[in-house]
Amino acid sequence: MNDNLIRNVTSLANGHWLSILNRLGVDIHYNKAQPCPNCGGYDRFTFDDLEGRGTYVCRGCGSGDGLSLVAKVHSVNARGAALMVAPYVGLSIGHKVNTAALESSKRKAEQAKVQEALKLTAKQAKAATRALCTLKTCKPALASNIYLQAKQVQPFDTFELANTLYLYGDHKMDIGSLVVPVFNPQLAGLQFIKPNGEKHILAGTRLKGGFYPLSGKDSNQVYIGEGFATCAAVSECVPNALVLCAFSAGNLINVALAVRKSRPKADVVIIADNDESGTGEREAIKAALAVNGVYIMPPAAREVA
Ligand SMILES: [Zn+2]
Repeated sequence: MNDNLIRNVTSLANGHWLSILNRLGVDIHYNKAQPCPNCGGYDRFTFDDLEGRGTYVCRGCGSGDGLSLVAKVHSVNARGAALMVAPYVGLSIGHKVNTAALESSKRKAEQAKVQEALKLTAKQAKAATRALCTLKTCKPALASNIYLQAKQVQPFDTFELANTLYLYGDHKMDIGSLVVPVFNPQLAGLQFIKPNGEKHILAGTRLKGGFYPLSGKDSNQVYIGEGFATCAAVSECVPNALVLCAFSAGNLINVALAVRKSRPKADVVIIADNDESGTGEREAIKAALAVNGVYIMPPAAREVA
């Protein structure tokens, strides 16, 4: 009997799990890195709903199907979960949903979300402070910096490490690593580029919307690119434009939208990274479309940073 109930519920729920889960107080979205409704976190959980089975993957508490998620979040076994889901798939055999428990679990989820947000804010504040302290120990980067020389670009007021720095645990940043500040809009963190081109972001840096302006020029011609070296190469070609480094392909659109907001009339040009995966170009097109701008893609030979 039990097996039948679980089988019937899962088969009837197939293809409807997102709405069922949402109605059972499991606040999740489709195909997006997000906090786990069971074990929290920030982006550890993805609801991919394979074959309509309500499947999910969590780096904290594992993966499973829609029914197992209901069971986890509401701390019931599979049969208990099936009983909770039954009313939403038109089965009257299910027990009435315990609304008090539902409310309490919803409240718990809300509280967890607030806690996570507070933790993140604290982490970001710490990163900003650490960035400032680190910058004080750096020296201005010169054109003779190994990475800049390899890329044949100017330093544009970036810095370089005067001492070896251990980022997290034993992760070593060599002397001479290039240090690019991340502004958002105040100093929010740092990007380190080792002489061999390896890039690292200071943990906790608020990167979404973060940027580094390669010139202080107030221009209505704005170029936004991904890597520092690409941006530097472009900046040397268009010295009168404002060039912003956005650090990642996915962040191009955030920086572009902020620019559009503050400069409604600016010509916005997105510089696409010519990477093999095509991510650079795809994200550049997205950003250009979002702000009614254009995109360019330098040849791969010059720079794949
Ligand atoms: Zn989890």
